[in-house]
Amino acid sequence: MSDGSKYDVVVVGAGPAGLSAAYLLARSGIKVLVLERGREPGSKSLFGGKVYAQPLRDVWPDLDKKAPIHRWVRVERFSLEWGGRLATLEYRLGKPVAFTTYLPELVKWMAGKAEEAGATILDEIVADEFIVKDGRIAGVRSGGDEVNADVVVDAEGVNRLLLEKIGLADPPDPSRLALGVKEVIRLKPDEIESRFGLSKGEGLSWLIAGEVTNGVPGGGFVYTMKDSVSIGIVLRVSSAVNAVEKGVINEHVSRMIERLRLHEYFGRFWRDGDIAEYGARLAIEGGLGYMPKKLVHDGLVVVGDAAGLLLNTGYTIRGVDFAVYSGKLAAEAILHALAVGDTSEETLRVYEEKLKSSFVYKELVSHKGIEDVMSDPWFFKALPSITVDVLKSLFEAEYEEPRILEAVMKSARETGTPLPLLIQKLLKAANL
Ligand SMILES: Cc1cc2nc3c(=O)[nH]c(=O)nc-3n(C[C@H](O)[C@H](O)[C@H](O)COP(=O)(O)OP(=O)(O)OC[C@H]3O[C@@H](n4cnc5c(N)ncnc54)[C@H](O)[C@@H]3O)c2cc1C
Repeated sequence: MSDGSKYDVVVVGAGPAGLSAAYLLARSGIKVLVLERGREPGSKSLFGGKVYAQPLRDVWPDLDKKAPIHRWVRVERFSLEWGGRLATLEYRLGKPVAFTTYLPELVKWMAGKAEEAGATILDEIVADEFIVKDGRIAGVRSGGDEVNADVVVDAEGVNRLLLEKIGLADPPDPSRLALGVKEVIRLKPDEIESRFGLSKGEGLSWLIAGEVTNGVPGGGFVYTMKDSVSIGIVLRVSSAVNAVEKGVINEHVSRMIERLRLHEYFGRFWRDGDIAEYGARLAIEGGLGYMPKKLVHDGLVVVGDAAGLLLNTGYTIRGVDFAVYSGKLAAEAILHALAVGDTSEETLRVYEEKLKSSFVYKELVSHKGIEDVMSDPWFFKALPSITVDVLKSLFEAEYEEPRILEAVMKSARETGTPLPLLIQKLLKAANL
C-alpha cells in the first residue's frame, strides 16, 4: 500500500457510501484511494434486495441504463401471520421508485464507475487504524504500511472498529443491531412472474411479520430478482437474546429461515427452486440511535452505515440510498475544504450541515419514534394475532358475523390489550 505517495483523500470501505464519495471526488480531479478488506468490491456485501433509485441517480445519472437493475418494484406486499392464518395487504405502484438487485453486483458496478473516474481501489487491504497527528486524522495504517491523506472518509459500514479506536463510536449495542440471514433461490424468470402474479420484468417486495420470527421483533422478506428470489429473516439482536433466555424461541436462526423456505403458503412461490447462496450480516436497526458522537473531525468524515444512516420502518428499508447520498454530500464538503485548503473539523462541518438539511436526516428525525415500535414485541405478536383473529371472525363465521368493532375489542381483550392501549399503539405506529 505504501508507495510513498500521498493522496488527497483515502476512503475506507468500498461499499455504496465510500464508492459514491470516491466517484464524485475522482471525477473532480481529486487523487482518491479506496481501501477494501474484501477480495473485491462487493465480495463482503449482503442486503435484502431493494434500492430506492432517485438518490443514486443524483450521483450516477446513467443508473437506469447502466446499473445492474434486476426488476423495478411494481408490487409491494405486507403480511401479518399468526396461528397459521395470514392477512396480506398488496399495493400496486403507479410509478416504480425502487429496484431489486444484488448488492455485490451493484457495488461492483459502482467500483467500476469510481475507477473509470480515476480513483484507485486496493482490494484485500484492511485499514487497521487511523494515523493521528496532533489530534487530526492524517491517514490510515494497514499492517506495517501507511498512507497519508488530507481527508479520510470512514465508510467502514456497521462494524465501526476504526471509529471505536478513536473514541467516536461506542462498541455495538445489541439493541441497535439486527441479524439478517438470507437465501437466494434460483427460478426461471417466467416462473417468478407467473407464481407472484407479475408482468414480464416486474419486481415484488414482500415483508412479513409475526409467526415468521415467533413474534420476536424482526421479520421476513422476499424480493424477486431477474432469475431468483431472495428470502430472509431479520431479528433484532437484543430481542432475540431476550426471547431465547425466556424460552420464546428455541431454534437457531438458520432453522427460522428454513421454516420460511418450506412454509406451507409462502413455500409455493419458490418451490423446486435451487438454493444458490446463503449468507448473514449485521444491520443497523434504524433510527438516530446509531449515530456516532460526531460525523466530522479534523481530517475525517463519516458516511453511510458507519454514520448510522439507515431507516427501517418495518414496511420500507432505506440503507443503500442513504449511504450513497451521504457519500455525495461528503464529497461536496471535501471538495470545498480542499479548495480552500482547510480540512479542519470546522470546515468539514459543511458535510454535517448538508446532511442535517437533507432528506436523509429529515427522514430519520421524522421517524424517530421508530425505535420504540420496532423493539416492542406487541407489534410482532399481539398485532398479527389481533389482525388475523378479527378477519377470522368476519370471514369464517358460520352463523352470526360480529360487528368489526366488537371483533376488534374481543380479540384485543384476548391478547391482553385493552382498547385504549390498542389505539395508543396504533397511533404510535401511524405517526411514524
Ligand atoms: C440483512 C440486511 C438487509 C438489508 N436490506 C436492505 C435493503 O433491502 N435495502 C437497502 O437499501 N438497504 C438494506 N440493508 C442495508 C444496506 O445494506 C446498508 O445500509 C448499506 O450497505 C450501507 O452501505 P455502506 O457503504 O455504508 O456500508 P457497507 O455496504 O457495509 O460497506 C462497507 C465496506 O467497508 C469494508 N470495510 C469495513 N471495514 C474495513 C476496513 N477496516 N478496511 C477496509 N475495508 C473495510 C467492508 O468490507 C465493506 O465492503 C440491509 C442490510 C442487511 C444486513
